[in-house]
Amino acid sequence: MPDLFGEIEPGVAEVVPFDGGARAYSYAVPSALKETLKVGQLVRVPLGHRQGLGVVWKYPAEAPAGTKLRSILALEHEQPVMTEDCCRLAEWMSGYYGCGLNSVLETVLPAAVRKGVRPVFRRWLSLVGPVEADVLTKLRKRAPRQAQLIDYLSAQTQPVERAKTLTSLGISQPAVDALLKAGLIKEDAHVLWRVAYNDPFAEAESVSVKGHQLNESQQAAVKSIAETLDAKQFRTHLLHGVTGSGKTEVYVSLIRKVVAEGGSAIFLVPEVALTPQTVGRLRSRLSDLGTRVVVWHSQLSAGERFDAWMAMSLGQARVVVGARSAVFAPLPQLRLIVVDEEHEPSFKQGETPLYHGRDVAVYRASLLSAACVLGSATPSLESWRNATSGRYVLNTMPQRVDDRPMPAFRIVDMRREVLHAKGQSILSRELVDSIRERLAKKEQAILFLNRRGHSRSLVCPDCGEAVQCPSCSVSLTLHATDSTARCHLCDYRQPAPVICPHCRSPKVRWKGYGTQKVEEVIAKLFPQARVARMDADTMSKKDLFRRVLSDFRAGKYDMLLGTQMIAKGLDFPRVTLVGILDADLSLQMPDFRASERTFQLLTQVAGRAGRGDLEGAVVVQTFQPASDPIQFAKRLDFEGFAQAELAKRAEFGYPPDRHLVRHVFRGRNLEKVTFVIESWVKEFSRLHPDLAEIRGPAPCPFERVQDQYRMHCWYFVKSVKPLLAALLPLRAKILRDEHVIDVLDVDAQDCG
Ligand code: ADP
Ligand code: ZN
Ligand code: ZN
Repeated sequence: MPDLFGEIEPGVAEVVPFDGGARAYSYAVPSALKETLKVGQLVRVPLGHRQGLGVVWKYPAEAPAGTKLRSILALEHEQPVMTEDCCRLAEWMSGYYGCGLNSVLETVLPAAVRKGVRPVFRRWLSLVGPVEADVLTKLRKRAPRQAQLIDYLSAQTQPVERAKTLTSLGISQPAVDALLKAGLIKEDAHVLWRVAYNDPFAEAESVSVKGHQLNESQQAAVKSIAETLDAKQFRTHLLHGVTGSGKTEVYVSLIRKVVAEGGSAIFLVPEVALTPQTVGRLRSRLSDLGTRVVVWHSQLSAGERFDAWMAMSLGQARVVVGARSAVFAPLPQLRLIVVDEEHEPSFKQGETPLYHGRDVAVYRASLLSAACVLGSATPSLESWRNATSGRYVLNTMPQRVDDRPMPAFRIVDMRREVLHAKGQSILSRELVDSIRERLAKKEQAILFLNRRGHSRSLVCPDCGEAVQCPSCSVSLTLHATDSTARCHLCDYRQPAPVICPHCRSPKVRWKGYGTQKVEEVIAKLFPQARVARMDADTMSKKDLFRRVLSDFRAGKYDMLLGTQMIAKGLDFPRVTLVGILDADLSLQMPDFRASERTFQLLTQVAGRAGRGDLEGAVVVQTFQPASDPIQFAKRLDFEGFAQAELAKRAEFGYPPDRHLVRHVFRGRNLEKVTFVIESWVKEFSRLHPDLAEIRGPAPCPFERVQDQYRMHCWYFVKSVKPLLAALLPLRAKILRDEHVIDVLDVDAQDCG
């Protein structure tokens, strides 16, 4: 768009170089490229005395006045690696999250793409259809080579690469040509199809699923979102559907519609490795669409990542299912972005850029006049506020499919239980009875405890000290399997002490319990039960995770015991009991969202019960039976919870009333850290007294991690942009102590 100050010239382009470029720079476009240069292409440009690769950011662009421009040196390859809207998205992220464009691009673009790898096309062979017997008989006599190829292809479930196949079968090209001409086989050219045909998720929990006739509330949701798609307008829908209400089926219908109309879609899930079932179901429901479905997850190799990226960019794959970074997928004609379990904190990236995948999804949809669908049984209060205030469209599915009842909650007051307990008091009598009942009926149970390890902390009755990690301010946890005491923050390990390291008293005791100990207790109480334990200690290999889940589904286990790993998205029809141990654990977190997280966790974990034809029950063990999250979860009352919690948030000015920006300072020297953060807060408030309400500085809840002292302050603001506009330049000017590192976290999810 031309403006009053600069002339738009087809001779100038802005380029963001990958190294050394926190912003876009102007370059002259050589005449050979003038007609064809496209935004999103990779070019080689001079950078000081070096040269390097970068992305064409704007073209044509304004010529900056009075400078002689250096010229783009070469086009790396024709295929754009970023869509234009994604460039604008990256710009927005850089401003909103306060980080350089180059660090955004490191997150957006796969490493191989940034290195300038060119897409390689390969040819793939497959049968057009079944070959009739008499045709084959004739071929066997006349052209045995051709028959051999047909036989080989008939035995395949997927297309095979031409060159490799011909070499291994010892067949030459004329045979292929003849079969192509006869219309018996076909050949496709694609970028290396490694992802589709060599994908660890291909067999992942391959649940075969048929489509369902949508029920009334599913239809209503689909209709409402389809209207947004048809209007080609930006709109965000919040799909609030209870657990088991059939949200996935709604997403699938919409994705199918978009693809049928020539568009593409992104489907974001909290963590692909932990939701193999969802991925498997989606894949199987989308397999007939006539387009590839890319699964984007952390286990892809660099090559697979590159292929997937190029396949999307070339339009060969029009659907991607993936974790948060799939939100940047280079899909042309993107019309729909679905964010499932939108309340999940894992959508927030834990390293720079600290972006929130859900919020980026909404912004990207707005750039494209596309539809964004956020789905959850327990929406975040941010999204709920947006839906009730009319910014988002609210679509509700209040019932489970086929009128299956919601699971019944039973709350066990552990204060009384402990008084009555004979022997162990980890599993309440009510829970033990319920488990016994399921075992007798050959139904399955899930036990949830969000703490791994055996015992929580080693306490000395003589001196009162607990044994802490030497580098972090947390107690060590006992892992009985190898008798180590471990730090769950930094993974420090030492042999479990038998005497107090402070006063050498031999009376030290391990207190508290984790999944390992629960496993022991169950083994004692129910020696016949087959129990699988899933936590970060047993599931170091992701493959194992999928195997255990499918074994559980197949009935090879009676009980699944695990941490939050098992809380999400699992759908096991034979699970009729869910036991939640120590439901208060998440309530004790030093986090203003503790209540919200507890409510979400209870509701989601409970939602794993009674999803099939058998009715489900939930037993919740708690020391705070009267607390809001537990009471509202028991009554299945999300709206009631939201209302009560929002009132509390408003009282203290917490989100969603205002945005929170967290500013963490860390370093090895506590005095330095304290000095730097205190002078920073003083100076910032002096220069910008009215920009934000600042709370702190204060030590972080995890005061010391890996030998670094940590302090933080919080900015409470109505709007993030003006805060960062003032903060970033000042920070660049005065925060220059090389021993103290500071990190800004906009809309922080992590308060530790
Ligand atoms: P949610 O994601 O809302 O918890 P799911 O999408 O996992 O729910 O659906 C729960 C179960 O109900 C799945 O097994 C799914 O196949 C099934 N289902 C979905 N829609 C229907 C329908 N219209 N009729 C019957 N069963 C359905
Ligand atoms: Zn002691
Ligand atoms: Zn540690």
